[in-house]
Amino acid sequence: MTLPPFELHRARTVDEAHELLELYGEDAAVVCGGTELLLLLKLGFAAYGHLVDVKGIEEFGGIRAENGTLVIGATTTHRQIERSRLVHEDLPALAEMEREVANVRVRNVGTLGGNLCFSDPHSDPATLLLALDAEVDCDAGRMALSDFLVGPYETALGHGQLLRSVRVPLPDPGTGIAHRKLSFRERPAATVAAAVEVDEGTVVGARVAVGSVGARAVRVTAADEALIGKRATDTAALAEAAMLAAESSGAVEDANGSVEYKEQLIRVLVERCVTAALADTGSL
Ligand SMILES: Cc1cc2nc3c(=O)[nH]c(=O)nc-3n(C[C@H](O)[C@H](O)[C@H](O)COP(=O)(O)OP(=O)(O)OC[C@H]3O[C@@H](n4cnc5c(N)ncnc54)[C@H](O)[C@@H]3O)c2cc1C
Repeated sequence: MTLPPFELHRARTVDEAHELLELYGEDAAVVCGGTELLLLLKLGFAAYGHLVDVKGIEEFGGIRAENGTLVIGATTTHRQIERSRLVHEDLPALAEMEREVANVRVRNVGTLGGNLCFSDPHSDPATLLLALDAEVDCDAGRMALSDFLVGPYETALGHGQLLRSVRVPLPDPGTGIAHRKLSFRERPAATVAAAVEVDEGTVVGARVAVGSVGARAVRVTAADEALIGKRATDTAALAEAAMLAAESSGAVEDANGSVEYKEQLIRVLVERCVTAALADTGSL
């Protein structure tokens, strides 16, 4: 596999990136870490004469806390998130999830923005960030991540539009968060995430998300509802939530298995994940 020739343009500002993308039109693509895009070019699944590298755009980088929200620049690598002191202090579950993404070579160059913009259905960050009610700032405006991720390899971005940052509301103190995955090959075959709040032994808040089994990661509000108002120790409620999550996962048959098989994976992973999130609150 050889990489076909292309011209690389290193944009330093948002305006410069927009000008280049406008100038070269359909023959140009945005590139950041290149772990997905360069692979597509090598395999001949895409062809562009011009790549506009956005890594050098300063405002797209860095991680900061802002009014109770963690703002992560689109060009931040998985490794930077995994090792960020701020993330470790404010949202350790995010660092833990990032530690499990791909391998260290991919994590060193692959970015959060690239992961979400590629919209591969097999995404760890998409699943966890949905459970955390994350939003994105992009050229199409500020929107919920659930609206940004339109479908497999499709986002709300139009051609030439850029993702700037990902905004994660910091959960209330005492919120338990967990992410679980199963991989047979490089990419995850099933991902689940849960964020739960417990007050005096009763679940008062729950957000469950599942991904990597269907066209895109999804929030499962039916599972949330099965948990809210129940005791944290209620195993029947947990089993019900896991079953509802499996049914709503949108699992499709592919090389990772049949729909029934994937739904079973989701059931098991949701039970484990919610249990881990409840344990994280200290209520189990
Ligand atoms: C071997 C391997 C294993 C992997 N395992 C996992 C895994 O376990 N879990 C997981 O979640 N992911 C996994 N991945 C995916 C990995 O997370 C992504 O490859 C990486 O995060 C993509 O980021 P990038 O910067 O390299 O994207 P690029 O390849 O640079 O870009 C990807 C796409 O996003 C667009 N884009 C990038 N940045 C922007 C922006 N700011 N605005 C608009 N469009 C943009 C590009 O045009 C392109 O279409 C794996 C990948 C590989 C190669």
